[in-house]
Amino acid sequence: MNVWSAVGAVLLGLRVAGELWLEALNRRHFKRLAAGEKAPSANSTRVVPGSRALDYALARCRFRQATVAYETLLLVGLLWSGVLPRAWSVWQQIFGTGPLADSLFPWCVFALVSVAWWPWLWYERFDLEERFGFNTTRPATWWSDRFKGLVLAAGLGIPVIAAIIHLIRQAGPWWWVWGWTGAVAFALILGWLAPTWILPWFHRFDPLPEGALRERLQQLAARMDFPLRDIQVMDGSRRTRHSNAFFTGWGRARRVVLYDTLLNQLGPDELEAVVAHEMGHARLGHLWQLWTLTAIGWGLGFAVAGWIVQQPDFYRTFGFSEPHPAVAVLLLGLWAGPAGWWLLPWIHAWARRCEFQADAFAVRALGSVEPLQRALERLHRDNLADVPSHPWYRFWHESHPTLPERITALTANARAGAKR
Ligand SMILES: [Zn+2]
Repeated sequence: MNVWSAVGAVLLGLRVAGELWLEALNRRHFKRLAAGEKAPSANSTRVVPGSRALDYALARCRFRQATVAYETLLLVGLLWSGVLPRAWSVWQQIFGTGPLADSLFPWCVFALVSVAWWPWLWYERFDLEERFGFNTTRPATWWSDRFKGLVLAAGLGIPVIAAIIHLIRQAGPWWWVWGWTGAVAFALILGWLAPTWILPWFHRFDPLPEGALRERLQQLAARMDFPLRDIQVMDGSRRTRHSNAFFTGWGRARRVVLYDTLLNQLGPDELEAVVAHEMGHARLGHLWQLWTLTAIGWGLGFAVAGWIVQQPDFYRTFGFSEPHPAVAVLLLGLWAGPAGWWLLPWIHAWARRCEFQADAFAVRALGSVEPLQRALERLHRDNLADVPSHPWYRFWHESHPTLPERITALTANARAGAKR
């Protein structure tokens, strides 16, 4: 076993062990809650033993355990079985070498990997989510989503892969700086493309109809001096009964999006609070911070990639006799997931901080805690999300604080505000 194989095995092994350990903690934690034990600190929600939320949390936990095992087997099989080098030599015999053939090879492997996930997605949608009454997707919509996803992955992915291969070949040892710059610029372009072209291909968006609610939200925006150009309603109910709201895009493409399911769940006060929270994310610069964090993460990734592609042993470890930019893209792409896993706690710690800040912003905007508190309680209950996970699991995986944590922070804020 050479050093690359060892590093790879350690990265992957620690990851799968860590992930399964977190899920095992979670599972024991949920089972204890189900048995009526009191949750550890900060989990002060009253969980009714055997409640649907608990069953849902346990079912999702088992699902994740299975997917982690599957993902690891898939990756180990691809990387260490020798199937990739054999496919590569057959590919070259059939299609030769040229920019298109070279870029298509890694893309096809990535596409096959994503197709290998379809049975899991199907199970999640039509079994797990269905059992808990969340699924509203029809199989035809599901298939059309998969098909559109592949088309999109081809349209965006093949040119990106071709560009990276071209840079590795032509731009010398510092190619990764150009690659990184290009990737960051591409993320900016996507921030504009996503709300205007990509999302509307999958979902239907309608402007929030004229009326009391729309007027109220516009007044809120005016009061906060917030340039709210667009409030859109998305047909989330065509796929799920889960509800959500989010901010997306930048510049003229910037908009707040409400799921139609949310409009049915919340009253006007609560909706206003949710929109104020989303405005908080935009106003406090969270989207730009996220973009900067992503850029830093990619910078690290590209720098490591820049070094790795020059190591002939890296290719040999995984059965490729010759270094080749297409093979580099393929191997690095397959390794990106397991490597990125180690960054999750940092990203999520930052995201949870943003949630507290946006909550505080909303309370300032509304001058009251109650509407946001009611909205959060309602959303957590209806989404069966009111069972907090084990603290270690939350530390690694969760981008949102728990409901009790948020409510504690809200009331503390309100008290501090009243004293001022
Ligand atoms: Zn938020």
